[in-house]
Amino acid sequence: MGSPVSPILANLIMEDIENKAMTEFHHPPKVWKHYVDDTFVVIKRKDLQQFFKFLNSIERTVQCTQEIENDGVMAFLDVKLTRESTGYLDYTVYSKPTHIDRYLNFRSDHPLQHKKAVIKTLLCREKLLTSNETNYQEGMDRIQLANGYPPALTARSQNSTNTKKMVENRCLVVLPYYRGLSEKLQRCLRNHNIKSFFKPMRTIGDKLRNEKDPVHPFDRQGAVYCVPCGDCDQKYFGETKRSFKARKKEHINYIKHFHPEKSALAKHALELGHRMNWSKTQIVAFENDFRKRRFIESFFINSTRSIINE
Ligand SMILES: [Zn+2]
Repeated sequence: MGSPVSPILANLIMEDIENKAMTEFHHPPKVWKHYVDDTFVVIKRKDLQQFFKFLNSIERTVQCTQEIENDGVMAFLDVKLTRESTGYLDYTVYSKPTHIDRYLNFRSDHPLQHKKAVIKTLLCREKLLTSNETNYQEGMDRIQLANGYPPALTARSQNSTNTKKMVENRCLVVLPYYRGLSEKLQRCLRNHNIKSFFKPMRTIGDKLRNEKDPVHPFDRQGAVYCVPCGDCDQKYFGETKRSFKARKKEHINYIKHFHPEKSALAKHALELGHRMNWSKTQIVAFENDFRKRRFIESFFINSTRSIINE
């Protein structure tokens, strides 16, 4: 899915295949519901394999796989469906067998509002994806137990899930979280009509080594950079949507092939015979948005005294 048009094309092709499957097969499925690349189908057992074969014969490059209900139970997306003897479908939240219902633990060193948000999100999910009160209660008990949430907090969240009030025209601040201090600070700020949010300072993820090779700043896309002149105290600020490495090559070529009109850096080097100190290059910011990048570049140009840029 590299190109932005790919999902649209994929949908159009899938629609065409579905139309053919539903209109040309002699006993089409009773129910056909799809979500992106997953489809839920209700079909008579005797027609299943023939239909499956027909479906895969429509387009050679698009081949489906199938999963059949086991003892009347089947998982579709996040939902576990159970076919009742009465013919009704019972549903509840589906989790993989390896899932252990672990979320943010209540005893962990995180702001209370984060914990409240976790329990509210899980409550909403249980409400939406369960067909009856028993399934809902079972799901919530399991989550509460695995993550140490007090039943009183869950009950309060249950009551407030549908009655959340948004407070308009309030200042918002995001601060690092320190247990004990942050709660006091939050009360203080509330008195001044400032709403505060906290983010944890130390996470286990920060402590663990990143397995990915770090990208060198000169190879990162969307950079604002500063190159000092090696022969005077002036500096050049530039921005590029590509990497600094690629842009540096261009600057060097402008100097080499005598193109002072192409950049202020080349002009400075050619007219004054100065050499840039490339080894002292600094990447001052990374920003992928063009306008923001230009803003940062202008900020540095305007706040630096000795500047090459015109
Ligand atoms: Zn110079």
